[in-house]
Amino acid sequence: MNTSIQKAAEAIRTPGGLLVFTGAGISVESGIPSFRGQGGLWEQYDPAFIEIENFYARSEYCWAQIKKIFYDHWGAASPNPAHYAIAAMQKHGWVDTIVTQNIDALHQRAGARDVVEFHGTLDRLVCTKCRFRATPTPELLSGAVPRCPDCGAMLKPDFVFFGEGIPEEASDRAFRSAMTASAILVVGTSGEVMPACQLPYVVKRHGGLVIEVNPDESAFTRGGITDIFLQGKAGEVLPKLLAAAENEAKDPA
Ligand code: NAD
Repeated sequence: MNTSIQKAAEAIRTPGGLLVFTGAGISVESGIPSFRGQGGLWEQYDPAFIEIENFYARSEYCWAQIKKIFYDHWGAASPNPAHYAIAAMQKHGWVDTIVTQNIDALHQRAGARDVVEFHGTLDRLVCTKCRFRATPTPELLSGAVPRCPDCGAMLKPDFVFFGEGIPEEASDRAFRSAMTASAILVVGTSGEVMPACQLPYVVKRHGGLVIEVNPDESAFTRGGITDIFLQGKAGEVLPKLLAAAENEAKDPA
């Protein structure tokens, strides 16, 4: 067996708190493109439609783009074997916290529970005035800009637009978990989006192990903090890692 997989399998089963930290790359095999790089969303679209000031100034145009990309296209995506493998690791009791930078809710659709959504989610709308939260039902999504059922102001997807802050509770939970995690499993993130990209450094600083899954090098691999680099696609590597850890559980060395 590949020794890197074996070492990672041992580490993820070691009691002490495993933090799973995912980014856009984990959903690429579900047909959701990343933002940057080849084939990324910004090759096709100008990101201004999710800049908060622009959203207020040109709401109808921005909403039409949001609906097309995030609800019509991304909303039809399904979890892939990587999302299912993480949900299974959590069911085995090996995972302390799952933190995702993704807004697509695919971890939850694969059965993961209590996921920390660092950048919010598509699966909720929020009122720009009274902060009422609403489910994005087909009725709310069918017209022009959806309106708050409570106060009538505009609704927006409850994810972080450019120019908005990170949800405080999600950030606190993520960093608290990183401060005590014995290992972090980093999947499909370039490590360039602040402040989420600080999490692996926090784990490393107190002696935790950094395991990374990515077909390419990231800021973490390049920066030398990755201890175990499992190079490859998340949908191929994570099921192998899960199987290795399950075998380890049946047949401890
Ligand atoms: P990123 O776009 O900066 O980097 C994506 C990373 O995924 C790259 O390192 C790439 O090599 C890797 N990758 C590509 N295919 C992969 C695969 N099959 N398996 C594993 N890794 C693969 O993504 P980021 O670091 O998450 O930062 C972008 C920000 O944009 C995120 O914070 C997120 O909020 C948002 N975003 C979310 C989604 C989503 O919800 N699915 C999609 C795009 C962007």
